[in-house]
Amino acid sequence: MTQWVYGFGDGKAEGRADMRELLGGKGANLAEMSNLGLPVPPGFTITTEVCTFYYANGQTYPGDLQAQIDAGLKQIEQITGMVFGDPSKPLLVSVRSGARASMPGMMDTVLNLGLNDETVEGLAKAADDRRFAYDSYRRFIQMYGDVVLEVDHSLFEEALQIMKERKGVSLDTELAASDLEKLVEEYKKVVADQLGRPFPQDPREQLKGAIGAVFGSWMTARAVTYRRLNGIPESWGTAVNVQAMVFGNMGDTSATGVAFTRNPSTGERRLYGEYLVNAQGEDVVAGIRTPQHLTLAGKEEHGSDLPAMEEVMPEVFGQLVDIQNRLESHYRDMQDIEFTVQQGRLWMLQTRSGKRTAGAALRIAVDMVEEKLISESEAVRRIEPQSLDQLLHPRLDPDAPRTVLARGLPASPGAVSGKVVFSADEAEAMAQKGEDVILVRIETSPEDIHGMHAARGIVTSRGGMTSHAAVVARGMGRPCVAGAGELRIDYKAQTLSARDKTVSKGETITMDGSTGEVMLGAVATIQPKVSGDFAKLMVWADGIRRLKVRTNAETPADAEAAIKFGAEGIGLCRTEHMFFDGERIIAVREMIMAEDEAGRRAALAKILPMQREDFAALFRIMAGLPVTIRLLDPPLHEFLPRTDEEMREVAAASGKSMDMVRHRALQLHESNPMLGHRGCRLGISYPEIYEMQARAIFEAAVEIGKETGNPVVPEVMIPLVGMPKELELLKEVVDRVAGEVQAASGVHIDYLVGTMIELPRAALMAREIAKSAEFFSFGTNDLTQTTFGISRDDSSSFLDAYQRRGILEKDPFVSLDVDGVGELVKIAAERGRQTRPDIKLGICGEHGGDPQSVMFCHEAGLDYVSCSPYRVPIARLAAAQAAIGK
Ligand code: PEP
Ligand code: MG
Repeated sequence: MTQWVYGFGDGKAEGRADMRELLGGKGANLAEMSNLGLPVPPGFTITTEVCTFYYANGQTYPGDLQAQIDAGLKQIEQITGMVFGDPSKPLLVSVRSGARASMPGMMDTVLNLGLNDETVEGLAKAADDRRFAYDSYRRFIQMYGDVVLEVDHSLFEEALQIMKERKGVSLDTELAASDLEKLVEEYKKVVADQLGRPFPQDPREQLKGAIGAVFGSWMTARAVTYRRLNGIPESWGTAVNVQAMVFGNMGDTSATGVAFTRNPSTGERRLYGEYLVNAQGEDVVAGIRTPQHLTLAGKEEHGSDLPAMEEVMPEVFGQLVDIQNRLESHYRDMQDIEFTVQQGRLWMLQTRSGKRTAGAALRIAVDMVEEKLISESEAVRRIEPQSLDQLLHPRLDPDAPRTVLARGLPASPGAVSGKVVFSADEAEAMAQKGEDVILVRIETSPEDIHGMHAARGIVTSRGGMTSHAAVVARGMGRPCVAGAGELRIDYKAQTLSARDKTVSKGETITMDGSTGEVMLGAVATIQPKVSGDFAKLMVWADGIRRLKVRTNAETPADAEAAIKFGAEGIGLCRTEHMFFDGERIIAVREMIMAEDEAGRRAALAKILPMQREDFAALFRIMAGLPVTIRLLDPPLHEFLPRTDEEMREVAAASGKSMDMVRHRALQLHESNPMLGHRGCRLGISYPEIYEMQARAIFEAAVEIGKETGNPVVPEVMIPLVGMPKELELLKEVVDRVAGEVQAASGVHIDYLVGTMIELPRAALMAREIAKSAEFFSFGTNDLTQTTFGISRDDSSSFLDAYQRRGILEKDPFVSLDVDGVGELVKIAAERGRQTRPDIKLGICGEHGGDPQSVMFCHEAGLDYVSCSPYRVPIARLAAAQAAIGK
């Protein structure tokens, strides 16, 4: 018999923390907390296997599930002494989803289940509180109506609003028992009107409906989107947790709250969280009432005048502090907990590893090493390499002038400027057009997730640090300012205003999620630094990794930035990128358009001194670190003159007529330039181009060697080789020029000549190619393009559909296709080494900065990865994790 249901409560459980695959994160941790003897309301978890079964079998359940659920209910009844559906002592339960990976706010929850016209009376009597009983009942109808029966929830809101207006009150808590009783009647009428049948009164039918709704919510559009954005497989399914209700809405000695054991924005080691008196869990997250701080410190820090839990319920607060300490040392990680206080008694409803910003993650990891909770390598393992991206972007210049429009909570750090939009759809549409947008909402809901992802940053006028916007933004690494109450957001007029200023849709604002400030216009930024906890962790990572990390850079600014981020050399200097600047482009065009060798040589002579200076600058900055310079690889179309103005420039520089220039441009036009006259093919047709470049490289090496007293060892790289003979011939050119420069300068130059492996044929012919190549650098951009036969410039129009339809899990131009392209890399590495055992192997395609691809490079035994400067720290960390075997 399969066990579909796992019970917990009363100091024991059938599950454990390491059973999250089966029980989901919530279920596994409820079991673990029960085993630890913490106060957890008893309940049971229906496993993720039931979800899988449900979808594999036309949305039906295993035959023996019901009996196991009944047994689970019995057990709750025994522990609580209450009976499900019994008006004299009614047991109420909550029904919550709980997937393997946390998906905050994405799936459905039903509270107070088991209430009906009879049990509500029993509850009133048992609690000796009519108001509480009817408050719970109206919440239940509203939630169940919304989530299970799919009645438009605004109909309930409307009825509630009318009731409050009729009574002249503004808060739900001000409604009396009799008002709530009437409201329950209204709500039931709403349901009956909408569905044509009454609200279900049988608790067992209610339970069945709620369980079905939770499983159903696994496939809602928002859950599907969230999984796609977070790489959570659909096959995982969700578990369902059914648990005895405890009530935070039983008057002023009751409360509900959420807490982080450390600050999720900064990582500071201090209990951090919010609570609401006389409320149920949803009220905190929904941002309907302004939550109060747990601690006095939190209250003071945020200038709140509402009392802290520490003051109001000191005893329960003390218990909470004890429990959070126990949870942290048990799990050895920052926890995100949910609790309820029922008439002065504390109950734990959830614990999980808390979502945090990259900055907080670093601080927590480093602190925990210092607290001896975790090892250095564990700290390195815990940081998501990609998340470092958040810290590698510019910050606001503290000295830049600014006009602050409003101040909210610093919910997720990072400073960005962008155009204001007021809806998620608009954010997505504008972002697709390449605009930077800031999504401004009164509050966000799970329906907004795609727009939050598309936006550079998120601002809300309502909600606390644990509101939906704050939690999701932190998870995504988007800067967020939450609860900027001064902002008046007018969706109709498409404006936001505060402090006598109004900003309309499309106008630029700046927001700083580290300070909570929202500012007019764009504010100047400064470059980030790797310092403090970040630097400490990187040192640990460097001690662990085997792969070297170089950078792709051709400008001095990029090279300098890369050095600051820890680059250990240049893995790819694309010389054609050095040709786009000012007067060079004219000389380069002249060279490309020349009709004979003499014409080309004349143009090349103009370029040589500029190239030499370019290389000298890079050698100077890299101070002895290896520098790989790739000889010209221009897809020709990028260089041909297009406009009349450009043609005139070329004509003037080369002394030709406009007609001749136009004719030559037409002649050079290619139908498929990516597969055309580029890379080493250009060097084969016009060896004088590579000759000039080699000369510039070697002369610069001699110059900088003399200047610094440190010999420069350039690595000369030939692109787009597919045939061994191509490399052989071009190596001869390079060697000849090296000999000439050595003879002329009297200085001996050590150098390497190697090739890019970026065509399938090159990978297959690696044994032969390695006879002339002293190193291989995998150009996985072209290798992906040519292996798939998918144009790297045109793929975006259809790859999206491929991902949505599950043909490709990831964009192969972003994350290396291990099965296909990866296989070619392995073949080339192996064959190359057969010929030349010490051949140097690296990668310089975009994949060099993608953590998963770095992992592959480690496993394939490459020597280094090379990536853009801002991804160098990401690659260093990913390389360390690869070495740990994460
Ligand atoms: C590559 O093809 O992976 C590569 C690094 O070269 P480029 O992107 O310049 O074609
Ligand atoms: Mg290439």
